[in-house]
Amino acid sequence: MAVNYVPSTLDEALLLRKDRKAIPLAGGTDIMVQGKRGLGLAPQLDRPVMIISHLKDELGGIRKDEDGSVVIGAIATAAEIASSDIVPWHVRMAASGMGAIALRNSATIGGNIGNASPKGDLPQPLILLDAEVVLISFDGERRMLLDDFIKGSKTTDLHDDEIIASIVIPPHEFTYSYYRKIGMRKANAISKLSLSAAATIKDGLVVDFRASSGAAGPKVIRSREAESMIIRRPVEDIEGIVPDFLEAWDHAISPHAMPRYRRNTTSRMLTRFLEAIVNGEPEGIVR
Ligand SMILES: Cc1cc2nc3c(=O)[nH]c(=O)nc-3n(C[C@H](O)[C@H](O)[C@H](O)COP(=O)(O)OP(=O)(O)OC[C@H]3O[C@@H](n4cnc5c(N)ncnc54)[C@H](O)[C@@H]3O)c2cc1C
Repeated sequence: MAVNYVPSTLDEALLLRKDRKAIPLAGGTDIMVQGKRGLGLAPQLDRPVMIISHLKDELGGIRKDEDGSVVIGAIATAAEIASSDIVPWHVRMAASGMGAIALRNSATIGGNIGNASPKGDLPQPLILLDAEVVLISFDGERRMLLDDFIKGSKTTDLHDDEIIASIVIPPHEFTYSYYRKIGMRKANAISKLSLSAAATIKDGLVVDFRASSGAAGPKVIRSREAESMIIRRPVEDIEGIVPDFLEAWDHAISPHAMPRYRRNTTSRMLTRFLEAIVNGEPEGIVR
C-alpha cells in the first residue's frame, strides 16, 4: 500500500485530512487487511493514507485528570493500555486479551474504535464506563459518548476532516466487576462474545449496576432498561429479579448476531455475576 503522507505535526495531519481526505493509519492492523488484494500485491485503498502513529506528543499517552477521569490518547497501543496502572480494570482486561503480543504492540485504541467492528474488544468495556471520544479537526474539537459515536457495524460518526484525538473515561468505583471474552482459543482470537458488568453496593442497596455485551449485535449492547431493574434495589431483592432481568437482557441482544447457545452463555455469565453480589463474595473481581 502506498503511504501518501507522513505528517510531522498534528496540524499538518489535520490539514491533510481537511484538504485531501487522507485516511489515518495508526497501527495499520485493520487497514492492511481492508486494503488487501492478494499474494505479492501491496494493499490498496481508494483514498490517500497518512501515518499518525509517530505523533506521540499530540495523540499518545495515558493520563489522569484532576477530576479523576482517565484520558487515553488515540494512538496508545493495546500493550500500553494493558500495562497501565491508571486505566480502569475492565479496559485493561480487554486490552490484554487482544490478538497476540505482536499485535498488541501495534494495535491502537483509536484504530479499534475507528474500525467499529462489533467484535472489537475495546468499545465494549469503554461503553460500560460511559467513555467519551474527543474528535479534532482543523476547525475545532467536539466530544461525544462513544456509545453515540459508534453507530453500527463498521459505522461511526467520524467526519471526513476529523481525527480521533483521545478517549475520556469518567471516574468510577465499583464494588464488583466482571469481564469475560470468549473466543476460539486464548490468544489471537477474535471475540465470539464478551461481557463486562459492574455494580456498586452501599448500605445493602445497589446504587449502580451496568453491563455491556460485545459481538452481540451490530454494536456494543447496553440495556438501560434491564439495568434499571436492579438499580436502587436492596441486594436481598436481586435473587427474585434475576429471571425478569435475564429475559430483558435477552431481548436486548440481537437474535441474528447471537444464536441460542451464545445467548445462554451470556445469561450464565450474568447469573454468575449477580450470584456473587447476592452472596456478598468478598473479592470484588468476579471470575
Ligand atoms: C491477526 C489479527 C488479530 C486481531 N485480533 C483482534 C482482537 O483480538 N481484538 C480486537 O479488538 N481486534 C483485533 N484485530 C483487529 C485490529 O488489530 C484492532 O481493531 C486494532 O485496534 C486496530 O488498530 P490499528 O491502530 O491497527 O488501526 P488501523 O488499522 O491503523 O486503523 C483502523 C481504522 O481506524 C481508523 N483510525 C485509526 N486511528 C484513527 C484516529 N486516531 N482517528 C480516526 N480514525 C482512525 C483508520 O483510518 C481505519 O479506518 C486483529 C487484527 C489482526 C490482523
